[in-house]
Amino acid sequence: MEIAGYDSRLLELLKIYPAFFTDACTGCDARANDRTMISNELKSQIQGAYSRFLEAKSLKPRYGQRLMIAEIAKVLGDIDTDEEGRRTSDPAVVAVEAGTGTGKTVAYAIAAIPTAKLAGKRLVIATATVALQEQIVHKDLPDLMRNSGLNFTFSLAKGRGRYMCLSKLDMLLQEGDATNATAQLFEEEGFKIEVDEASQKLFTSMIEKLAGNKWDGDRDSWPQALEDQDWARLTTDHSQCTNRHCPNFQQCAFYKAREGMGKVDVIVTNHDMVLADLALGGGAVLPDPRDTLYVFDEGHHLPDKAIGHFAHYTRLRSTADWLEQTAKNLAKLLAQHPLPGDLGKLIEQVPELAREIKAQQQFMFSACEQLADFRAGEDMQGRERPRHRFIGGVVPEHIREMGIELKKGFARLDDLFTRLADLLKEGMDGEVNIGIASHQAEEWYPLFGSLLARAHGNWELWTAFTAEDPEDSPPMARWLTLADSGALFDIEVNASPILAAEMLRRNLWNVAYGALVTSATLTALGKFDRFRMRAGLPKVAVTAVVPSPFHHADAGVLRVPDLKADPRDSVAHTAAIIRELPSLVEGSRGTLVLFSSRKQMQDVFDGLERDWRKQVFIQGNLSKQETLNKHKARVDGGDSSVLFGLASFAEGVDLPGAYCEHVVIAKIPFAVPDDPVEAALAEWIEARGGNPFMEIAVPDASLRLVQACGRLLRTEEDRGTITLLDRRVVTQRYGKAILNALPPFRREIS
Ligand code: SF4
Repeated sequence: MEIAGYDSRLLELLKIYPAFFTDACTGCDARANDRTMISNELKSQIQGAYSRFLEAKSLKPRYGQRLMIAEIAKVLGDIDTDEEGRRTSDPAVVAVEAGTGTGKTVAYAIAAIPTAKLAGKRLVIATATVALQEQIVHKDLPDLMRNSGLNFTFSLAKGRGRYMCLSKLDMLLQEGDATNATAQLFEEEGFKIEVDEASQKLFTSMIEKLAGNKWDGDRDSWPQALEDQDWARLTTDHSQCTNRHCPNFQQCAFYKAREGMGKVDVIVTNHDMVLADLALGGGAVLPDPRDTLYVFDEGHHLPDKAIGHFAHYTRLRSTADWLEQTAKNLAKLLAQHPLPGDLGKLIEQVPELAREIKAQQQFMFSACEQLADFRAGEDMQGRERPRHRFIGGVVPEHIREMGIELKKGFARLDDLFTRLADLLKEGMDGEVNIGIASHQAEEWYPLFGSLLARAHGNWELWTAFTAEDPEDSPPMARWLTLADSGALFDIEVNASPILAAEMLRRNLWNVAYGALVTSATLTALGKFDRFRMRAGLPKVAVTAVVPSPFHHADAGVLRVPDLKADPRDSVAHTAAIIRELPSLVEGSRGTLVLFSSRKQMQDVFDGLERDWRKQVFIQGNLSKQETLNKHKARVDGGDSSVLFGLASFAEGVDLPGAYCEHVVIAKIPFAVPDDPVEAALAEWIEARGGNPFMEIAVPDASLRLVQACGRLLRTEEDRGTITLLDRRVVTQRYGKAILNALPPFRREIS
């Protein structure tokens, strides 16, 4: 049995802590001397705000929090600018790993708000989850404003989809009106017009509340929860929004919210919104990146979010159906409205072209069906996703050629719909006679806008799917997925970048005034190398780990028992877990058991005694939140409760105190071997002479294991046990590196 104390890494960190909060830096190392570059004004603003905050809240300064403030102020408070205030020095990027209990939000807000204000910049705080976004807006920033003496304004920037579209509401309330005959032709595009009695009541009450200034059109401030399918009828996206041409523009909830955003010091938003803005060149939805100081909280998600942003897919069968439907709808539209001029000529071309592309889609479907060897496999969420991956992203030539034809077809369709949308815009102003009344142009625009968006999405997919990858950069991952489509099956065609590093480097880090990335897990195996590679951090980026406020060695024990079953032999390993689990978790009120595969989770559950199983909540039967609530209620009622979960329960789940006294981890969480993006990345690294197992698989698994262990201690009072049922952490060399990167719990290794 081996019992270890604190990780020496943390002790090292404690030694190099810079004395930002002292006036003299005597005895500090060279890094600390840099702090003399921060202006005295900024330094005193930050120090004053922090002291006032601690005093008002009767808190003691937290060591890690002070260190984090110092690191941020050092990098972001020392940026050279030209006379227009634009950064002239190297990219200013700082990445700080700070564990639970550090008080990250207070740290970065206290450092970054005065820094941004003094530099005349806007602060954009982006999170990965709605829960954190709400906490920052409703709790942390108001609290800071009340208690720190900092004077700032802030607002929440949400996507258009969170706001009601008045034009859509108008359209729904005119149910049965003859003018809606056009919209009824396009039910598939989300223009479903039938309004039942309950919806009619809801829509009327919405319009009344809007008129009486009792509602601002924000979904989240409507007093009752709204079903997604009801809301989808009420909101819109940029392709359907007529913007300044819209008769409701002045009252539009989304544009009003955006106008408010233009004046505030701090904008809270999500990663997706920042990425969408950058994809539009920056400054389109949010402030210009050159005038923005960014904070990416939950920053470990940023690289994957960025990849997701540039990934494309289409479903062959459903797109073919859509093309046929579009051809029919537009032919009917022409029959109903004999249209003179360009409008008629352009619409007339659509049905024939749509059917031509549909035929190509069908050829592509047959070719993919013949070629694909769909292998069963789970994705990281444990969903069954049979896939066929193109090795190295290389698509067979005959498929690629067909893809190029589809790309050309969709380019023509995209062009037709773009010209139609432009014409309708002109018609809306009433300045140009396009053959229909301006109100009709307003009605038609969203319909053609959504057709344009779908055609454009397909064009993007086929462009990415058929592109030739430059030799010296990472290729695209390309694969097919077997998908359900009602009674029939469909084939989904996918193309995704494998790294977002270059995109983030070019559009974010190199352009922004400054940026902070923070999270409880940015390092892997104790280093920032993995995050640097995936996020494309500039070489000059400063990285820091601040020590956790938790005393891991006193608060918890990490056990690695000998199950006498190798986790690579899944049958024996599952049988051993079934045998040992009941006695392992005995005595704990709340237990979280984390699996890497849905199959193993289900097999363990099925193999347990029926009576014992009654205390288990297994992921998948209810929503994540409902599962957590039920678990908590059972613990509150004095009973013991066991949660079985997959990857999504290993991160972001907050179960303090008795809710989680024991975390059992079935296996080292290696990535699903057939994840197409990860597999293509591994191939690319191998082709360049690297070792993908050591460079990707092990660091990724280490990071996930740290996240899983992070479920145990949520407050400084928490105590508990982590049991890892995978002895590879002691038997394999890579396993020892993974073990050493775990928080410094007391260890009991059989
Ligand atoms: S401006 Fe756009 S989002 Fe707003 S009401 Fe008009 S169409 Fe809807």
